[in-house]
Amino acid sequence: MNHKRALKHNIFKYITQSAEELQVESYVIGGFVRDYLLDRGDAKDIDVVAVGSGIELAKQVAKNLPNQPKVQVFKTYGTAMLRYEEIEVEFVGARKESYNENSRNPIVENGTLQDDQNRRDFTINALALSLNEKNFGELLDPFNGLNDLDKGIIRTPLDPNITYSDDPLRMMRAIRFATQLNFEIEATSLKAIADNKERIKIITKERIVVELHKILESKTPSVGFLHLEQTGLLQFILPELTALKGIDEIEGQRHKDNFYHTLEVVDNIAKTTDNLWLRWAALLHDIGKAPTKKFQKKVGWTFHAHEFVGSKMVYKLFKRLKMPLNDKMKFVQKMVFMSSRPIVLATDVTDAAVRRLVFDAGDYVEDLMTLCEADITTKNPKKFKKYHNNFKKVRAKIIEVEERDQVRNFQPPVSGEEIMETFNLKPSREIGLIKEAIKEAILEGEIPNEYEAAFELMLEKGKNLGLEVVKS
Ligand code: ATP
Repeated sequence: MNHKRALKHNIFKYITQSAEELQVESYVIGGFVRDYLLDRGDAKDIDVVAVGSGIELAKQVAKNLPNQPKVQVFKTYGTAMLRYEEIEVEFVGARKESYNENSRNPIVENGTLQDDQNRRDFTINALALSLNEKNFGELLDPFNGLNDLDKGIIRTPLDPNITYSDDPLRMMRAIRFATQLNFEIEATSLKAIADNKERIKIITKERIVVELHKILESKTPSVGFLHLEQTGLLQFILPELTALKGIDEIEGQRHKDNFYHTLEVVDNIAKTTDNLWLRWAALLHDIGKAPTKKFQKKVGWTFHAHEFVGSKMVYKLFKRLKMPLNDKMKFVQKMVFMSSRPIVLATDVTDAAVRRLVFDAGDYVEDLMTLCEADITTKNPKKFKKYHNNFKKVRAKIIEVEERDQVRNFQPPVSGEEIMETFNLKPSREIGLIKEAIKEAILEGEIPNEYEAAFELMLEKGKNLGLEVVKS
C-alpha cells in the first residue's frame, strides 16, 4: 500500500527535491509515521533520515524553501533542525550505533536505512516512508511494526535485553507508549525491563520526569504506574509510592492498600482535569501515610498528620527529581497539605468552616474539591453517593459564602497603616494582634467583611490593649 496521503504537506516536496539534488535517499521515520497510521492527527514534528549527511540535506531544503529558514545545527549529534510553517523538521544521517556499559550515548558510524531502523526503540517507531522519487510514499517496515500497531503491541526490533541495556531510557518510553496508546508490552520485553531495572540509574532525572509527565497526562495513568511497579522501576524513581503498598492487619483491623487507592484517585482525577500539577497532587496526596502509619489500641490504624508530613515530602521528592521548586511545587504541597480538609467539613458544613477553607485554599479551592472528589474510591454504592452529595453541599456553600463574604485572597478591610495612624503606633506587635482579631472575627462570622465593622472592632481591640485613639 502506498501512503502518499501522509505526505501531502508541501514540506515533503521540498525534501524530495533537495535529496534528489544531493543524490541522497531520504525517509520520514518514527513518531510521524506511527501517528499517521494510528490516525492520531497530523503530527507537527517530522523526523527525516538521510542516507548521507542529514545536516547537508537540511541546508539544501532550507535553501529551496520560499522563506529560506534558519537551520539549527547540532554538531555533536550530527543533526539539524528547521521550522517551516507550523512544522518542525529534524534531519539526521542514517547511522549504526554501538553502546558501552556506562553511558546511553552510543558510538556512531554512518549506516544504511536498515541500520538506522535497527537502532530505533520499538517496531512501531521504526516505520519509515520513502521520500525518494522512485518509490515516494512506500512504507518500509522491516520488523512488521504495522502488525504491532494493529494488535497494539510494544516490541523492540532487536533483542529487548540489549535494547534496554544499551539505552535504559527506552524502558520508560516503553511504559509511556503503552500508557498513551493503551498498548500491551510484549512479554519478553516486560521481562527484560524487570531484568534491567537497575540500569535506570544512568538516566538523568530530567529525562525520567519527561516520561512521568507523559504518563500522568494520559487518559488512564494507572496503566503506566502499574507497569513501573511490576517491573520494579518505581522503587528507583518514586520509592514514596511503593512504600504505600500492602495491607497490615492487627487485632482483626486492616487498612486499605494506599498504593492501589492512589492509582484509582489518579485515574479518577484524569477524567475531570487536564491540569498536570493537580494530577501530581493526586499521585502524591497520601505519601505521608507510609511514615506516619501506627496501630493504636481501641482506635485502630492511624496516619496522624500525614498531610503535613506528605507536603514536606513533596519538596524533597521534587528536589531529588530535579523538578521545579517554584509555584507548581507549592501548589502540589498545598493540595497535599489540605487534602483532608473538605472531608472533615462534609459531615458538618458550617459557614465558618467553609470561610476558613476558602481563606486557606484561596484560588485553589476548586482544585482542592476536585481532588477530594477523586479521592472517593469506596466500592459501596450507598457511601459513594453519600460522599459525593456531601461534597456537592460543600461546593454550594463555597459559592454562597463567597458571594457574601469575599474571603478568597483576603485583604484586611483595615490596613496596618490605618491602625498605626489611629493609635499613633510605630510598627509593633499590637498591630499584628489587631489585624489577627479582625481576620478571626470575619472568618468566624462575628462581623461582616466590611470596612465599618472592622474599624469598630479595631477601636474596641485597641482599647482592650490600652491604646489611645489619636485620629479617628
Ligand atoms: P513523542 O513525540 O510522542 O515523544 P516520538 O516517537 O516522535 O513520540 P521522539 O522522542 O520525538 O518520540 O523520537 C522520535 C523517534 O526517534 C522515535 O519514534 C524513535 O524512532 C526514535 N527514538 C527516540 N528516542 C529513542 C531512544 N531512546 N532509542 C531509540 N530510538 C529512539
